Amino acid sequence: MAKILNTFAAVERYELVRAGGGVDPEVSAEAVRHACRMPEEPWTGIYAKIADATQPIIAEKSHGLFAACGTWVRVYLPQPFDSEDSRACPQCVDAVGVKG
Ligand SMILES: [Zn+2]
Repeated sequence: MAKILNTFAAVERYELVRAGGGVDPEVSAEAVRHACRMPEEPWTGIYAKIADATQPIIAEKSHGLFAACGTWVRVYLPQPFDSEDSRACPQCVDAVGVKG
């Protein structure tokens, strides 16, 4: 495994899945995983939420972030970017500077 410190995995969008009479956002298992960099501590705002998260975080429409490759992402996963994940975005792998 090559989990990259100071990053978190992110995907562009979520899917809405009907569950128990409601509709839950769910991250597709196949979605491309992008890398976002954590800024220096102290973490505030969305970064503090991501650092403490155990579930994916979905940002408000206007609060997306650019992934390392320049893709606009709005769904943040509570785990580091993994360059060996088969779904890892190749441009992000290059951009965070770690090859498999
Ligand atoms: Zn990417």
